Amino acid sequence: MSRNKLLAGNWKMHKTRAEASEFFRSFTKLVGNMADVTRSVEVAFGVPATLFDVCVNAAGAGVKILAQNVHYEKQGAFTGELSTVMLQDAGLQGSIIGHSERRQYFAETDQAVGKKWNALSLSSLLPVVCVGETKAEREAGETNIVVKKQFELALAEVSADAKAKDFVIAYEPVWAIGTGLTATPEQAEEVHLMIRGLLTTHFGAARAETVRILYGGSMSAANCAELLKKPNIDGGLVGGASLKPEDFSKMVLTAKG
Ligand code: PEP
Repeated sequence: MSRNKLLAGNWKMHKTRAEASEFFRSFTKLVGNMADVTRSVEVAFGVPATLFDVCVNAAGAGVKILAQNVHYEKQGAFTGELSTVMLQDAGLQGSIIGHSERRQYFAETDQAVGKKWNALSLSSLLPVVCVGETKAEREAGETNIVVKKQFELALAEVSADAKAKDFVIAYEPVWAIGTGLTATPEQAEEVHLMIRGLLTTHFGAARAETVRILYGGSMSAANCAELLKKPNIDGGLVGGASLKPEDFSKMVLTAKG
């Protein structure tokens, strides 16, 4: 089964509107024929809400613009939050959810991640569901236990209708995010294979083969080729390197092959 690779940038809390416009001016030039590229590799950017319209208008043919978080209710008294209805209204295609920074700094739980997954899927928006262990958990030999628990507790909140929709898992070892440390292709593949097994258990073998599992954690233009060669690494969730058009365009073209 061949899965289209997906390279998703995560801009976190970076860039003004002028900087975002400038990024896409360079990025689209460097990538070349965007429509041709995005036919074989999906390209997405998780961006701050102030940049939604700029990015939707400037990103180029086939490029998906995502939020970095979403609320699971459609509307209501939730000051500071955005709903799936609002993301759709802004022209977005999905959202990153459960990023380790949101788990760490904003107390996001596996249950909340699952409710967000459910809400996104029911709105036909793409959930990019992040999982990953800390350094202490890896050193204690608990990587698989932690990732399985994060995945299964979230999945428990997802309805049958929502489960039928497309979703993406991003395996992001916390110790590799923004640190310059990258999991080796072998370390990443081992966890991706375990996740593929979980997908098989919960969705059946045929469906499991269709789900993209991204690697995230200091992925760069220098190391992405080796990571992307692994059979279960279907792309990347890229923080730092996605802020630079030169680096991210190289990664997109590497993923295209
Ligand atoms: C991320 O924020 O999801 C990430 C992987 O960051 P970085 O690539 O900078 O490690």
